[in-house]
Amino acid sequence: METVQTPGYFGQFGGSFIPPDLQEAMDYLAQQFEKYKNDPEFIEEFQYYLREYVGRENPLTYARHLTAKLGGAKIYLKREDLNHTGSHKINNVLGQILLAKRMGAKRIIAETGAGQHGVATATVCAMFDMDCTIYMGAEDTRRQALNVFRMELLGAKVVAVDKGQGRLKDAVDEALGDLVQNYKNTFYLLGSAVGPHPFPTMVKHFQSVISEESKRQIMEKEGRLPTAVLACAGGGSNAIGSFAHYIDEPSVRLIGVEPDQAPTLSEGVPAIIHGFKCLVLLDENGEPRKTYSIAAGLDYPGIGPEHSYLKESGRAEYYMVTNEEVLEAFQVLSKTEGIIPALESAHAVAYALKLAPTLSSEDILIVNLSGRGDKDVEQVFHMLQK
Ligand SMILES: *Cc1c(COP(=O)(O)O)cnc(C)c1O
Repeated sequence: METVQTPGYFGQFGGSFIPPDLQEAMDYLAQQFEKYKNDPEFIEEFQYYLREYVGRENPLTYARHLTAKLGGAKIYLKREDLNHTGSHKINNVLGQILLAKRMGAKRIIAETGAGQHGVATATVCAMFDMDCTIYMGAEDTRRQALNVFRMELLGAKVVAVDKGQGRLKDAVDEALGDLVQNYKNTFYLLGSAVGPHPFPTMVKHFQSVISEESKRQIMEKEGRLPTAVLACAGGGSNAIGSFAHYIDEPSVRLIGVEPDQAPTLSEGVPAIIHGFKCLVLLDENGEPRKTYSIAAGLDYPGIGPEHSYLKESGRAEYYMVTNEEVLEAFQVLSKTEGIIPALESAHAVAYALKLAPTLSSEDILIVNLSGRGDKDVEQVFHMLQK
Protein backbone atom coordinates (compact mmCIF):
# COMPACT_ATOMS: atom_id res chain seq x y z
CA MET A 1 0.00 0.00 0.00
CA GLU A 2 1.41 3.37 -0.99
CA THR A 3 0.62 5.84 1.77
CA VAL A 4 2.31 8.99 0.52
CA GLN A 5 0.82 10.71 -2.53
CA THR A 6 2.37 14.15 -2.77
CA PRO A 7 5.11 14.76 -0.21
CA GLY A 8 3.64 15.57 3.15
CA TYR A 9 0.13 14.31 2.35
CA PHE A 10 -1.46 11.13 3.65
CA GLY A 11 -4.76 10.94 1.82
CA GLN A 12 -6.53 14.19 2.71
CA PHE A 13 -4.37 14.65 5.85
CA GLY A 14 -1.08 16.38 6.54
CA GLY A 15 0.20 19.22 4.39
CA SER A 16 1.30 22.59 5.64
CA PHE A 17 -0.99 25.47 6.63
CA ILE A 18 1.33 28.17 7.93
CA PRO A 19 2.33 31.79 7.22
CA PRO A 20 4.66 32.33 4.21
CA ASP A 21 7.75 33.22 6.27
CA LEU A 22 7.39 30.00 8.25
CA GLN A 23 6.75 28.08 5.03
CA GLU A 24 10.13 29.23 3.79
CA ALA A 25 11.75 27.66 6.86
CA MET A 26 9.79 24.42 6.36
CA ASP A 27 10.70 24.19 2.66
CA TYR A 28 14.36 24.57 3.57
CA LEU A 29 14.03 21.90 6.28
CA ALA A 30 12.26 19.48 3.90
CA GLN A 31 14.96 19.95 1.30
CA GLN A 32 17.77 19.37 3.83
CA PHE A 33 16.06 16.30 5.27
CA GLU A 34 15.73 14.80 1.77
CA LYS A 35 19.37 15.56 1.15
CA TYR A 36 20.71 13.89 4.28
CA LYS A 37 18.33 11.05 5.09
CA ASN A 38 19.96 8.68 2.57
CA ASP A 39 23.47 10.05 2.95
CA PRO A 40 25.70 7.12 4.02
CA GLU A 41 27.72 9.24 6.46
CA PHE A 42 24.58 10.62 8.06
CA ILE A 43 23.12 7.13 8.41
CA GLU A 44 26.35 5.82 9.89
CA GLU A 45 26.51 8.63 12.45
CA PHE A 46 22.86 8.06 13.45
CA GLN A 47 23.52 4.32 13.83
CA TYR A 48 26.64 5.03 15.88
CA TYR A 49 24.81 7.15 18.45
CA LEU A 50 21.80 4.84 18.55
CA ARG A 51 24.18 2.07 19.54
CA GLU A 52 26.70 3.87 21.75
CA TYR A 53 24.50 6.50 23.42
CA VAL A 54 20.91 5.27 23.30
CA GLY A 55 21.86 1.61 23.86
CA ARG A 56 20.16 0.03 20.82
CA GLU A 57 19.19 -2.42 19.75
CA ASN A 58 16.90 -2.98 22.69
CA PRO A 59 15.32 -6.40 23.29
CA LEU A 60 12.01 -7.83 22.17
CA THR A 61 11.20 -9.55 25.45
CA TYR A 62 8.84 -12.52 25.61
CA ALA A 63 6.37 -11.79 28.43
CA ARG A 64 6.17 -15.39 29.59
CA HIS A 65 4.23 -14.90 32.82
CA LEU A 66 1.78 -12.41 31.39
CA THR A 67 1.12 -14.74 28.46
CA ALA A 68 0.52 -17.68 30.81
CA LYS A 69 -1.73 -15.61 33.05
CA LEU A 70 -3.94 -14.40 30.18
CA GLY A 71 -4.02 -17.64 28.18
CA GLY A 72 -4.14 -16.84 24.47
CA ALA A 73 -1.77 -14.96 22.21
CA LYS A 74 1.95 -14.89 22.94
CA ILE A 75 2.92 -11.41 24.10
CA TYR A 76 6.24 -9.79 23.25
CA LEU A 77 7.35 -6.39 24.57
CA LYS A 78 9.46 -4.01 22.48
CA ARG A 79 11.67 -2.44 25.12
CA GLU A 80 11.90 1.29 24.32
CA ASP A 81 11.79 1.71 28.11
CA LEU A 82 15.42 0.54 28.21
CA ASN A 83 16.71 3.40 26.04
CA HIS A 84 18.87 6.10 27.59
CA THR A 85 16.47 8.63 29.19
CA GLY A 86 13.78 5.96 29.41
CA SER A 87 11.62 6.26 26.31
CA HIS A 88 11.42 6.23 22.52
CA LYS A 89 11.68 10.05 22.39
CA ILE A 90 15.48 9.88 22.24
CA ASN A 91 15.40 8.20 18.78
CA ASN A 92 13.74 11.25 17.26
CA VAL A 93 15.66 13.99 19.06
CA LEU A 94 18.92 12.29 18.14
CA GLY A 95 18.01 12.11 14.45
CA GLN A 96 16.88 15.72 14.38
CA ILE A 97 19.91 17.13 16.20
CA LEU A 98 22.26 15.33 13.79
CA LEU A 99 20.33 16.93 10.94
CA ALA A 100 20.48 20.34 12.68
CA LYS A 101 24.26 20.01 12.95
CA ARG A 102 24.58 19.21 9.24
CA MET A 103 22.42 22.21 8.45
CA GLY A 104 24.81 24.41 10.41
CA ALA A 105 22.29 25.39 13.10
CA LYS A 106 23.76 27.03 16.20
CA ARG A 107 20.70 26.90 18.43
CA ILE A 108 18.00 24.38 19.13
CA ILE A 109 14.53 25.41 20.27
CA ALA A 110 11.67 23.18 21.35
CA GLU A 111 8.34 23.35 23.11
CA THR A 112 7.28 21.06 25.90
CA GLY A 113 4.09 20.41 27.84
CA ALA A 114 4.78 18.11 30.76
CA GLY A 115 8.50 18.33 30.08
CA GLN A 116 9.32 14.90 28.63
CA HIS A 117 10.24 16.19 25.15
CA GLY A 118 12.05 19.15 26.72
CA VAL A 119 14.22 16.82 28.78
CA ALA A 120 14.98 14.61 25.75
CA THR A 121 15.92 17.69 23.70
CA ALA A 122 18.08 19.15 26.49
CA THR A 123 19.84 15.77 26.75
CA VAL A 124 21.02 15.67 23.12
CA CYS A 125 21.86 19.38 23.21
CA ALA A 126 24.20 18.67 26.13
CA MET A 127 25.67 15.71 24.23
CA PHE A 128 26.26 17.75 21.06
CA ASP A 129 27.14 21.03 22.76
CA MET A 130 24.27 23.01 21.23
CA ASP A 131 22.64 26.12 22.65
CA CYS A 132 19.18 25.00 23.84
CA THR A 133 16.03 26.99 24.58
CA ILE A 134 12.88 25.21 25.75
CA TYR A 135 9.54 27.04 25.71
CA MET A 136 7.13 25.86 28.36
CA GLY A 137 3.80 27.27 29.53
CA ALA A 138 4.19 29.11 32.86
CA GLU A 139 1.45 26.99 34.40
CA ASP A 140 3.24 23.84 33.21
CA THR A 141 6.58 24.99 34.69
CA ARG A 142 4.89 25.21 38.10
CA ARG A 143 3.30 21.77 37.80
CA GLN A 144 6.48 20.14 36.47
CA ALA A 145 9.16 21.88 38.52
CA LEU A 146 11.39 18.79 38.61
CA ASN A 147 11.46 18.54 34.82
CA VAL A 148 12.38 22.23 34.64
CA PHE A 149 15.26 21.46 37.00
CA ARG A 150 16.30 18.46 34.85
CA MET A 151 16.43 20.62 31.72
CA GLU A 152 18.44 23.31 33.52
CA LEU A 153 20.80 20.68 34.91
CA LEU A 154 21.39 19.57 31.33
CA GLY A 155 22.29 23.14 30.40
CA ALA A 156 19.08 24.27 28.70
CA LYS A 157 17.39 27.63 29.12
CA VAL A 158 13.73 27.18 30.04
CA VAL A 159 11.47 30.08 29.04
CA ALA A 160 8.20 30.17 31.01
CA VAL A 161 5.48 31.50 28.67
CA ASP A 162 2.98 33.67 30.54
CA LYS A 163 0.74 34.48 27.58
CA GLY A 164 -2.69 32.90 27.10
CA GLN A 165 -3.35 30.11 29.57
CA GLY A 166 0.33 29.40 30.07
CA ARG A 167 -0.02 25.94 28.55
CA LEU A 168 1.47 23.92 25.70
CA LYS A 169 -0.35 25.81 22.95
CA ASP A 170 1.09 29.12 24.15
CA ALA A 171 4.58 27.59 24.30
CA VAL A 172 4.17 26.37 20.68
CA ASP A 173 3.20 29.90 19.58
CA GLU A 174 6.28 31.42 21.24
CA ALA A 175 8.58 28.78 19.76
CA LEU A 176 7.14 29.40 16.27
CA GLY A 177 7.63 33.16 16.72
CA ASP A 178 11.27 32.51 17.61
CA LEU A 179 11.69 30.27 14.55
CA VAL A 180 10.26 32.86 12.13
CA GLN A 181 12.81 35.40 13.45
CA ASN A 182 15.80 33.10 13.58
CA TYR A 183 15.39 30.19 11.20
CA LYS A 184 18.70 30.85 9.46
CA ASN A 185 20.63 29.72 12.54
CA THR A 186 17.95 28.00 14.64
CA PHE A 187 16.47 24.50 14.41
CA TYR A 188 13.01 23.78 15.82
CA LEU A 189 13.12 20.27 17.23
CA LEU A 190 9.59 18.86 17.21
CA GLY A 191 8.63 16.05 19.56
CA SER A 192 6.01 13.95 17.80
CA ALA A 193 4.75 12.87 14.38
CA VAL A 194 2.67 16.05 14.09
CA GLY A 195 3.02 19.59 12.70
CA PRO A 196 3.46 20.84 9.13
CA HIS A 197 5.42 18.88 6.51
CA PRO A 198 8.17 17.65 6.76
CA PHE A 199 7.88 16.93 10.51
CA PRO A 200 5.48 13.93 10.42
CA THR A 201 7.58 12.25 7.70
CA MET A 202 10.86 13.06 9.41
CA VAL A 203 9.77 11.91 12.87
CA LYS A 204 8.45 8.66 11.40
CA HIS A 205 11.74 8.15 9.62
CA PHE A 206 13.75 8.42 12.85
CA GLN A 207 11.28 6.35 14.91
CA SER A 208 11.05 3.57 12.29
CA VAL A 209 14.07 1.98 13.91
CA ILE A 210 11.58 0.49 16.41
CA SER A 211 9.80 -1.70 13.84
CA GLU A 212 12.93 -2.29 11.80
CA GLU A 213 14.34 -4.03 14.88
CA SER A 214 11.15 -5.71 16.06
CA LYS A 215 10.51 -7.26 12.64
CA ARG A 216 14.00 -8.73 12.50
CA GLN A 217 13.70 -9.89 16.12
CA ILE A 218 10.32 -11.60 15.75
CA MET A 219 11.50 -13.38 12.59
CA GLU A 220 14.53 -14.66 14.52
CA LYS A 221 12.47 -15.76 17.53
CA GLU A 222 9.30 -17.06 15.90
CA GLY A 223 10.05 -17.29 12.19
CA ARG A 224 6.88 -15.41 11.33
CA LEU A 225 5.23 -12.02 11.53
CA PRO A 226 3.10 -10.99 14.51
CA THR A 227 -0.69 -11.09 14.45
CA ALA A 228 -0.82 -7.51 15.71
CA VAL A 229 1.40 -4.64 16.80
CA LEU A 230 0.04 -2.44 19.60
CA ALA A 231 1.16 1.04 20.66
CA CYS A 232 -0.26 3.99 22.57
CA ALA A 233 -1.05 7.11 20.54
CA GLY A 234 -0.55 10.68 21.79
CA GLY A 235 0.83 12.64 18.87
CA GLY A 236 1.57 9.26 17.36
CA SER A 237 5.36 8.99 17.09
CA ASN A 238 5.99 5.75 18.98
CA ALA A 239 2.96 4.20 17.27
CA ILE A 240 4.00 5.18 13.73
CA GLY A 241 7.58 4.04 14.45
CA SER A 242 6.38 0.65 15.67
CA PHE A 243 3.95 0.28 12.73
CA ALA A 244 6.24 1.54 9.93
CA HIS A 245 7.80 -1.71 8.72
CA TYR A 246 4.49 -3.59 8.97
CA ILE A 247 2.28 -1.17 7.04
CA ASP A 248 2.95 -3.11 3.84
CA GLU A 249 2.30 -6.47 5.54
CA PRO A 250 -1.51 -6.76 5.29
CA SER A 251 -1.63 -9.82 7.60
CA VAL A 252 -0.36 -7.73 10.53
CA ARG A 253 -3.03 -5.81 12.45
CA LEU A 254 -1.93 -2.33 13.52
CA ILE A 255 -3.58 -1.22 16.74
CA GLY A 256 -3.30 2.22 18.31
CA VAL A 257 -4.60 2.78 21.83
CA GLU A 258 -5.74 6.12 23.21
CA PRO A 259 -7.20 7.43 26.48
CA ASP A 260 -11.00 7.58 26.57
CA GLN A 261 -10.61 11.21 27.70
CA ALA A 262 -8.54 12.18 24.65
CA PRO A 263 -10.11 9.90 21.96
CA THR A 264 -8.79 11.75 18.91
CA LEU A 265 -8.90 8.84 16.48
CA SER A 266 -12.12 7.37 17.80
CA GLU A 267 -14.12 10.62 17.82
CA GLY A 268 -12.13 13.28 15.93
CA VAL A 269 -13.16 14.98 12.69
CA PRO A 270 -10.91 16.32 9.88
CA ALA A 271 -9.68 19.82 10.75
CA ILE A 272 -6.54 21.95 10.72
CA ILE A 273 -4.58 22.31 13.95
CA HIS A 274 -1.00 23.56 14.53
CA GLY A 275 -0.35 23.96 10.81
CA PHE A 276 -1.53 20.58 9.45
CA LYS A 277 -4.70 18.63 8.77
CA CYS A 278 -5.62 15.64 10.90
CA LEU A 279 -8.46 14.20 12.94
CA VAL A 280 -9.13 16.67 15.76
CA LEU A 281 -11.41 16.62 18.78
CA LEU A 282 -13.58 19.72 18.52
CA ASP A 283 -16.00 21.20 21.03
CA GLU A 284 -19.46 22.57 20.15
CA ASN A 285 -17.89 25.88 19.04
CA GLY A 286 -15.53 24.17 16.62
CA GLU A 287 -12.51 24.83 18.88
CA PRO A 288 -10.01 22.10 19.83
CA ARG A 289 -11.59 20.30 22.79
CA LYS A 290 -9.92 20.33 26.18
CA THR A 291 -8.45 16.88 26.71
CA TYR A 292 -7.32 15.25 29.89
CA SER A 293 -5.17 12.18 30.31
CA ILE A 294 -3.50 10.71 33.38
CA ALA A 295 -0.59 10.14 30.98
CA ALA A 296 0.81 13.60 30.17
CA GLY A 297 2.31 12.35 26.88
CA LEU A 298 -1.13 11.43 25.51
CA ASP A 299 -2.84 14.71 26.30
CA TYR A 300 -3.22 16.24 22.84
CA PRO A 301 -6.44 17.05 20.89
CA GLY A 302 -4.86 16.21 17.49
CA ILE A 303 -2.95 13.23 16.11
CA GLY A 304 -0.35 12.66 13.42
CA PRO A 305 -1.70 12.93 9.85
CA GLU A 306 -0.58 9.44 8.86
CA HIS A 307 -2.59 7.90 11.73
CA SER A 308 -5.59 9.93 10.58
CA TYR A 309 -5.15 8.35 7.16
CA LEU A 310 -4.50 4.82 8.47
CA LYS A 311 -7.73 5.14 10.44
CA GLU A 312 -9.75 6.52 7.53
CA SER A 313 -8.42 3.90 5.09
CA GLY A 314 -9.05 1.12 7.59
CA ARG A 315 -5.44 -0.10 7.57
CA ALA A 316 -5.03 0.54 11.31
CA GLU A 317 -7.49 0.17 14.18
CA TYR A 318 -7.75 2.49 17.16
CA TYR A 319 -9.35 1.74 20.51
CA MET A 320 -9.93 3.56 23.78
CA VAL A 321 -9.10 2.38 27.27
CA THR A 322 -10.23 3.89 30.59
CA ASN A 323 -8.05 5.22 33.41
CA GLU A 324 -9.05 2.22 35.54
CA GLU A 325 -7.88 -0.19 32.83
CA VAL A 326 -4.60 1.70 32.51
CA LEU A 327 -3.95 1.64 36.26
CA GLU A 328 -4.73 -2.08 36.31
CA ALA A 329 -2.33 -2.72 33.40
CA PHE A 330 0.37 -0.64 35.12
CA GLN A 331 0.18 -2.95 38.14
CA VAL A 332 -0.28 -6.23 36.26
CA LEU A 333 2.82 -5.75 34.12
CA SER A 334 4.83 -4.69 37.18
CA LYS A 335 3.79 -7.79 39.14
CA THR A 336 3.97 -10.40 36.36
CA GLU A 337 7.10 -9.31 34.49
CA GLY A 338 8.96 -7.00 36.86
CA ILE A 339 8.61 -4.14 34.40
CA ILE A 340 6.99 -0.87 35.51
CA PRO A 341 5.68 0.75 32.30
CA ALA A 342 5.15 4.46 31.65
CA LEU A 343 1.47 5.38 32.07
CA GLU A 344 1.41 6.14 28.33
CA SER A 345 2.69 2.65 27.49
CA ALA A 346 0.27 1.12 30.01
CA HIS A 347 -2.51 2.12 27.59
CA ALA A 348 -1.14 -0.32 24.99
CA VAL A 349 -0.68 -2.97 27.68
CA ALA A 350 -4.28 -2.42 28.84
CA TYR A 351 -5.66 -3.21 25.40
CA ALA A 352 -3.35 -6.24 25.10
CA LEU A 353 -4.84 -7.57 28.35
CA LYS A 354 -8.26 -7.50 26.67
CA LEU A 355 -7.16 -8.77 23.26
CA ALA A 356 -4.77 -11.62 24.09
CA PRO A 357 -7.34 -13.94 25.75
CA THR A 358 -9.61 -13.69 22.67
CA LEU A 359 -6.83 -15.06 20.41
CA SER A 360 -5.15 -18.47 20.18
CA SER A 361 -1.70 -19.60 21.28
CA GLU A 362 -0.71 -19.46 17.60
CA ASP A 363 -1.14 -15.69 17.66
CA ILE A 364 1.62 -13.23 18.51
CA LEU A 365 1.23 -9.71 19.87
CA ILE A 366 4.02 -7.14 19.92
CA VAL A 367 3.31 -4.42 22.48
CA ASN A 368 5.46 -1.32 22.19
CA LEU A 369 6.65 -0.36 25.65
CA SER A 370 7.30 3.28 24.75
CA GLY A 371 8.79 4.19 28.14
CA ARG A 372 9.52 3.23 31.71
CA GLY A 373 7.30 4.13 34.62
CA ASP A 374 9.75 5.63 37.11
CA LYS A 375 8.44 9.10 36.28
CA ASP A 376 4.88 8.00 37.09
CA VAL A 377 5.28 6.03 40.29
CA GLU A 378 4.52 8.95 42.61
CA GLN A 379 1.40 9.91 40.63
CA VAL A 380 0.11 6.33 40.65
CA PHE A 381 0.83 6.10 44.38
CA HIS A 382 -1.50 9.07 44.97
CA MET A 383 -4.16 7.80 42.58
CA LEU A 384 -4.25 4.38 44.23
CA GLN A 385 -4.62 5.92 47.70
CA LYS A 386 -7.89 7.51 46.69
C1 LIG B 1 5.73 11.35 24.89
C2 LIG B 1 5.41 9.93 25.15
C3 LIG B 1 4.37 9.25 24.47
C4 LIG B 1 3.44 9.93 23.51
O1 LIG B 1 4.02 10.45 22.37
P1 LIG B 1 3.82 9.77 20.93
O2 LIG B 1 4.34 10.80 20.01
O3 LIG B 1 2.37 9.49 20.75
O4 LIG B 1 4.62 8.52 20.93
C5 LIG B 1 4.18 7.91 24.73
N1 LIG B 1 4.93 7.25 25.63
C6 LIG B 1 5.93 7.85 26.31
C7 LIG B 1 6.72 7.06 27.29
C8 LIG B 1 6.20 9.21 26.10
O5 LIG B 1 7.18 9.81 26.78
